[in-house]
Amino acid sequence: MGDPDWAEADRELVWHPYAAMPGAQPPLPVIAAEGCEIELADGRRLIDAMASWWSVIHGHRNPAIMAAVHAQLDRLPHVMFGGLTHAPAVRLCQQLVEMAPREDAGDDARALDKVFLADSGSVAVEVAMKMAIQYQAGRGRPLRQRFLTVRGGYHGDTFGAMSVCDPVNGMHTLFRGALAQQHFVCMPTLETGDDTDVAEVALALAEHGDEIAAFIIEPIVQGAGGMRFHRASYLTAIAALCRQHGVLLICDEIATGFGRTGTLFACEQARVIPDLLCVGKALTGGTMSLAATLTTAEVAAGIAASVAGVFMHGPTFMANPLACAAANASLELLRTRDWRSEVAAIEAQLADGLAACRGLPGVADVRVKGAIGVIQMDRSDRGPALQAAAVARGIWLRPFRDLLYTMPPYTISPAQLAQVVDAMVAAVREA
Ligand SMILES: *Cc1c(COP(=O)(O)O)cnc(C)c1O
Repeated sequence: MGDPDWAEADRELVWHPYAAMPGAQPPLPVIAAEGCEIELADGRRLIDAMASWWSVIHGHRNPAIMAAVHAQLDRLPHVMFGGLTHAPAVRLCQQLVEMAPREDAGDDARALDKVFLADSGSVAVEVAMKMAIQYQAGRGRPLRQRFLTVRGGYHGDTFGAMSVCDPVNGMHTLFRGALAQQHFVCMPTLETGDDTDVAEVALALAEHGDEIAAFIIEPIVQGAGGMRFHRASYLTAIAALCRQHGVLLICDEIATGFGRTGTLFACEQARVIPDLLCVGKALTGGTMSLAATLTTAEVAAGIAASVAGVFMHGPTFMANPLACAAANASLELLRTRDWRSEVAAIEAQLADGLAACRGLPGVADVRVKGAIGVIQMDRSDRGPALQAAAVARGIWLRPFRDLLYTMPPYTISPAQLAQVVDAMVAAVREA
């Protein structure tokens, strides 16, 4: 079987993520997916060790999610959200609020019980940033329009989100004239680090606090910016510093949310409840595009007190009922299935299996956290070779820069994960 006609047409016609037009490497044509496998037009089956960009946590075409989307399709695929509402959206917001970290008593009592539904992760980040600025203005601090963040972050590809991505590896140079100027501190150090990184945040807040609306960070795991892990105590310390300086804390859990790091949300590991929480990626179990920004009654009240009196954002497809139905079913699965054991088992198997790469020529580091396994190479030009070696062994991986990593579906079987690990180790040996 050769590639179908439409695959031929792709190269001259269809833009792919971070690609040239026409594309350099032809993408693999996919015709179906089920469980942890994707099926190519030529009949090959690949294990989706990326969980399709970390989203397909229950595997492809989970029956419960499929049934929920089918039922919703028969009733109400879409309706505008301005001035109208529907049960799938309300149910979803209820579920998110119930799952989000909260503190019910004491001085630190807070609940993330106000939800804005966005259509992608980048938009959820834009929404959180806009909320922070409107909140500060509503509380009499209109000059707080900038953000503080760490180097090595990734928050999306739209302008606001790009402005807080890593200034070197991100797209700052390219879009310099069009990007808002933000304040950066050093990358949080790894789990064994000392507290110089916290001291740098304290200094930045002391110097620039009165122009900073919020601190934004991917808690515990910096994902697309470099797959780096940091210690929970860092997050605990910066949350306290932010509070001290009247700076809101935005936790971008678009990658880490819904169990990926071993807890439902990564910020739980630091016992931190942010002022704004962004979720996306795994929200619908990888079925449709949907994201959300959760915040507190205090932030909502500040926004209501701003000049506009309302929050100034409202996407056309906000709260799309089909996407909400998929998300509701995916969250129900998380609430009823023992994903903690699944993630713990994946973590143990990855730690055990990828350890074989330690000390191999070309390998700079091997690290595992939750259902995330990372091999960092000592150079960044090996991606295509590593990917080809994995695909030849029936595994779909997409290395970037110097990183070969897997973030598999939680439902991956031990035998399938063994194949993923073997392919990663073999790819590294060959490269
Ligand atoms: C993927 C990602 C985003 C952007 O989400 P999109 O849905 O691609 O717009 C933002 N923040 C983090 C941490 C991400 O991993």
